[in-house]
Amino acid sequence: MAIADLIQKAQQEGRRLLTEIESKQILAEAGIPCGPAQLATTPEEAIAAAQELGFPVVVKIVSPDIVHKSDVGGVRLNLETPDQVARAFHEVVQSAHQHMPDARIWGVSVQRQAQPGVEVIVGVSKDPQFGPVVMFGLGGILVELLQDVSFRIVPLEPRDARQMIREIKGFPLLTGYRGRPPVNIGALENLLLRVSQLVEAHPEIEELDLNPVFARPDGAEAVDARIVISTS
Ligand code: ADP
Ligand code: MG
Repeated sequence: MAIADLIQKAQQEGRRLLTEIESKQILAEAGIPCGPAQLATTPEEAIAAAQELGFPVVVKIVSPDIVHKSDVGGVRLNLETPDQVARAFHEVVQSAHQHMPDARIWGVSVQRQAQPGVEVIVGVSKDPQFGPVVMFGLGGILVELLQDVSFRIVPLEPRDARQMIREIKGFPLLTGYRGRPPVNIGALENLLLRVSQLVEAHPEIEELDLNPVFARPDGAEAVDARIVISTS
């Protein structure tokens, strides 16, 4: 489905939060690397999806009412067998229901377990004065603890993307810290530029969160995605 249609469909349903599956469909259309995520509404469908994608896989809760999936026990990583996938299906559905009894649960998302990398985050929020602003930072505990992030106003120029990656304090972690291989900085720059193009072309996007993006020597890949849209 085209990006505008995906957004319109959610708007017609009165939703502002797109699911991870919808958000990743939009990313894929926008040329932003992310592995495919397949919706499964039964354990059998989840197993079939895993077999199609190839093990190991990740299973996550899919709900239009749940923003932080881990907070409700809604993420299971490193699933190696059909049995583990079926068990994960039941576990995440039950756990999400226990944490949020009123949340609508549409099923689970099955996706490939991505090769690990340095976790970075890319976000967009709307400033009342400047409009959409892109944020870049290191993921996980570092961003929470140190608030080591950089910002640029949309639209980003290639120079903006280059600078905002290099100006965070944690930049050395990306260039081969303590003998680790350097990540592909060009791929990260590209990702930032495509995010800027996406939100510029679709002003209905109010917020976008790619948290985390795995940055690796062979490229960069969003493993989680959350898009919030305006009501109409
Ligand atoms: P949340 O809604 O809680 O942010 P995420 O989708 O970000 O859920 O998943 C939680 C964590 O699981 C991520 O920070 C990442 O480390 C890991 N993870 C998620 N999806 C994948 C994946 N496809 N491959 C590998 N690791 C993943
Ligand atoms: Mg996340």
